[in-house]
Amino acid sequence: MLWVGTSWKMNGLIAFARDYASRLASQPADRWNGVQPFVIPSSTAMAAVHDELGDGSAVMLGAQNAHWEESGAWTGELSVPQVADAGARIVELGHSERREYFGETDRTVNLKVKAVMRHGLRPLVCVGEPEASLQAGTSSDYISRQVEAALDGIPDTTAVLLAYEPIWAIGEAGREPGPDDIAGALSTLATRFGSSVEAILYGGSVNAGNATEILALPGVDGLFVGRSAWNVEGYMEILDAAARCAAGPRM
Ligand code: PEP
Repeated sequence: MLWVGTSWKMNGLIAFARDYASRLASQPADRWNGVQPFVIPSSTAMAAVHDELGDGSAVMLGAQNAHWEESGAWTGELSVPQVADAGARIVELGHSERREYFGETDRTVNLKVKAVMRHGLRPLVCVGEPEASLQAGTSSDYISRQVEAALDGIPDTTAVLLAYEPIWAIGEAGREPGPDDIAGALSTLATRFGSSVEAILYGGSVNAGNATEILALPGVDGLFVGRSAWNVEGYMEILDAAARCAAGPRM
């Protein structure tokens, strides 16, 4: 199974969310055989996406973050039970923007992974190195340390999704990677953690043109997409590419 999802970051009003999700929901059930699609909208749009997708949808809904406590005096935060109540089955954690701008640390990511798993949801743990680390040839060490910290003290990590998202490759300032830029780090993740997690995804400047090549890299079980999937046609093109890969021989 290839996991292919998108996070909308801080984009999208409810009308956009309804339109996007209803387009996905109206596709034939077998269009993306072998692929597990997931959509992670802003929290204000989660209920609308859930509503449009309908119960039992093949498209999973996710949240962009959740706190580690069950409830309480944490103004501005959402708990895991709250995002689950809104329909989320995946919770994205540790994105580099949260680490850089919102004080997310390896420790808080670990607390959140534990909370998400306690409630039977899937954590989607994002890791990725800065450009300097890529240049120094230390990408594999950098991200391995992040994964170890995120999964510390968790005996069974088989529900975990890992997303390798090099900081130099994501967002507007990101540079599209060549296969050689990311193959080493992905292969390290696959060797070290591949057999103990559900899937290892790649994210950062993915588009319909490079999706097939990235999915062909050893150890890659999916894609996590930002900008190229912020319109539903772009997302569906990437899902189509993944479905073609899923139908072919896997490495
Ligand atoms: C991201 O920021 O997580 C991401 C994958 O972004 P993009 O696809 O836009 O590079």
